[in-house]
Amino acid sequence: MAKLIKIAHNKCICPTCDGNGYLRIATGDTSKDFRENSKVHQCWDCESSGELTIEEPSLEDLKISSRLQ
Ligand SMILES: [Zn+2]
Repeated sequence: MAKLIKIAHNKCICPTCDGNGYLRIATGDTSKDFRENSKVHQCWDCESSGELTIEEPSLEDLKISSRLQ
């Protein structure tokens, strides 16, 4: 996974993993030892890419909808 996160206009950093592509899931009492009581889990939202593609209406779509109003 690339460390550098590029943000294209139709992509955003995954809020689930904060762009890491993975998360630490608690498996026990993380207040004692976070690393001992958690394990790395690949992010299910962005499929470990760290970013999400935003499905937004294109500028053309917005123009059409503003015309209809
Ligand atoms: Zn993610």
